[in-house]
Amino acid sequence: MTKHIFVTGGVVSSLGKGLTSASIGMLLEQRGLRVRMQKLDPYINVDPGTMSPYQHGEVYVLDDGSETDLDLGHYERFTHSPLTRDSNYTTGQIYQSVINKERRGEFLGKTVQVIPHITNEIKGCIRKLADDDVDVVITEIGGTVGDIESQPFLEAIRQFSLDVGKRNCLYIHLTLVPYLKAAGELKTKPTQHSVGQLREIGIQPDILICRSERSLSREDREKIALFCNVPIRAVIEEKDKDFSIYEVPLSLVENGLDELIVEALGLPAGKLELDNWRELLHDLRNPEHEISIAVVGKYAEHRDAYKSIYEALDHAGIAHRAQIRIQRIQSESIEQEGPERLLAGYDGLLVPGGFGERGIEGKVDAIRFAREREIPFLGICLGMQCAAIEFARNVIGLAGAHSTEFNKDTPYPVICLLDEQKAITDKGGTMRLGAQTAHLAAGSKVAACYGTDLISERHRHRYEFNNLNRQQFAANGLIVVGTSPDGSLVEIIELEEHPWFVAVQFHPEFKSKPTAAHPLFAGFIGAAVERHLSRGGAAQRV
Ligand code: GLN
Repeated sequence: MTKHIFVTGGVVSSLGKGLTSASIGMLLEQRGLRVRMQKLDPYINVDPGTMSPYQHGEVYVLDDGSETDLDLGHYERFTHSPLTRDSNYTTGQIYQSVINKERRGEFLGKTVQVIPHITNEIKGCIRKLADDDVDVVITEIGGTVGDIESQPFLEAIRQFSLDVGKRNCLYIHLTLVPYLKAAGELKTKPTQHSVGQLREIGIQPDILICRSERSLSREDREKIALFCNVPIRAVIEEKDKDFSIYEVPLSLVENGLDELIVEALGLPAGKLELDNWRELLHDLRNPEHEISIAVVGKYAEHRDAYKSIYEALDHAGIAHRAQIRIQRIQSESIEQEGPERLLAGYDGLLVPGGFGERGIEGKVDAIRFAREREIPFLGICLGMQCAAIEFARNVIGLAGAHSTEFNKDTPYPVICLLDEQKAITDKGGTMRLGAQTAHLAAGSKVAACYGTDLISERHRHRYEFNNLNRQQFAANGLIVVGTSPDGSLVEIIELEEHPWFVAVQFHPEFKSKPTAAHPLFAGFIGAAVERHLSRGGAAQRV
C-alpha cells in the first residue's frame, strides 16, 4: 500500500518547503523507494501561468504542457518522480472541477459544500498519485498554516489519515526558529504557536523540521518536543545553508530524518546511497575556475523569476568544475547606461524568456554587444526572438525589424504569431506548451552538444521565427539548426562566425539536473570557460 507524507509550513512563508520536500523525496529514492511528488497550492488562480513573476516567480513547465509552481522544479532536480498535471493542484482547479460536476448534476440535488465536496475533491487529487508501483507520495501544502485559503487543504489531509489509516500517513511541519540578537537566543514560541494551530484543526505533526540560522541546543529541542507533543528525535534541525541548496539533503540525513520517516511509515527501504550527491558537493566546493555570466532580463532583481536558469547555470558549472558568478542585470539599465559599461568583462551572456515590451531594447543591445565582441551567448525563448530582431536590424539592415508582439505594424515582422495562436483570445493555458520534438542539423554546434539529432524540449510561447526570413538570415550567417520534425517551426538558430552564439525557442533550463547538466548549458559554460582561459583566466584560479 502506498504511504503518504504531508509537508506543511508555519510561522512565515518562503521557508523552503519545496526544497525540503524535494530533499525528502531524494533521500527516500536514494534508499531505493519509489516516490511521487505533488504540490497543492491554496491560491485561486487556476495555474500560475497568468501570474506576474513578481507575484509568483518563474512558471515551471512540465512535459505534458502544464504550467506549474516553481517548487516542481526542485522536485525534478532532486528526484526522478515523474511529474504530470496531477502533480500540482490549486484552489482554482479544485473549485473549477467541483463546479463543473455540479453543472452536470453529479451531486444529485445536494447542497455543494466545502466539507465534504471540496475536501473530497482534494483527497481525490492526492489519491491519484497512489498506485501499485509507488511506495510514497509526498504532498506539499503551499502557504502557511493559519491562512484562510489553506484550511480546506489542511482539513482534507486531516481526513486522509482516517481514510487510509494513521500508520500510512506522516505529517511533517516545517517552521522557523528565529534567533533574537538582543536576547542572544533562539526563540521557540512561534513554532509552539504554529503547531498549536495545526493541533486545533486536528493535525498532530509527527516530525518538526526547524529552520534556523543557528544550531538548536539540546534544551531548545527538548522544549519544542515538550510543547509540541513530539519525541525529541522528531525535532529536526535544518540550519540555513549559505553555500548551496544541494547541501540540504545531507544535513537532514545528519539529523536522522530519513531513518525516522522509514521507521514511522514501516517503509521497505534499503541502505542510503549518497555517493553521487557527495561527489557533486565535492565538485561544487572545489572549482578549478571562476567565471562570470551576465543574465540580462526584465526581472533581474527578483531571485525567483529565472530560478531554473540560475540552477541550470550552476549545474553546468559543476560539470566544468567552474564556479559561476551570476550577475543579474536589469535590461532597462542597459538602455540607460549602455552595454559597454554594464557588460564588459563577462565570460558569457544569457538572455532569458519573457513577455511584454519593457526592456526589449536593452536585451537587443546586450545581444549586439555579445555578437560583436564574440562573447558566448545563449538566448532562451524571448532571448532567441531578440537575437533575431538584433540580427535583422544590425546585420541585414532591416531597420525597424521587430516582433509583432511589440509592434504590430513593424515593416519587418521577423517574429510573428504562430498560426495556431491567431484565433485564440483566452490567456490561461493557451500557448504552445510542453514537450515538442525537434530535429538538429548535422554538423551544428548544438548537435555536437546534444550528441544526437533528435531532441525533446519544453515550450511556452505564442510567437515564432518568421519563415519568410530564413534564407536572408542564412545568407548573412545566422542559420537555422533546429526545427520541428516537419521543418515548419524554427527551434534553434546559431551564428556561424562566432565562438558560441546559440538561441533556442524552447526552455532547456527545465531539464537540467545537478547530477546531469543540460547539454546546451554545458556547451555555453564550456565556451565561457574557454574564453576566460584565453584571456588569462588560468592565472585567476580560485
Ligand atoms: N513572449 C514570447 C512569446 O510568446 C516569448 C515567450 C517566452 O519567452 N517564454 O512567444
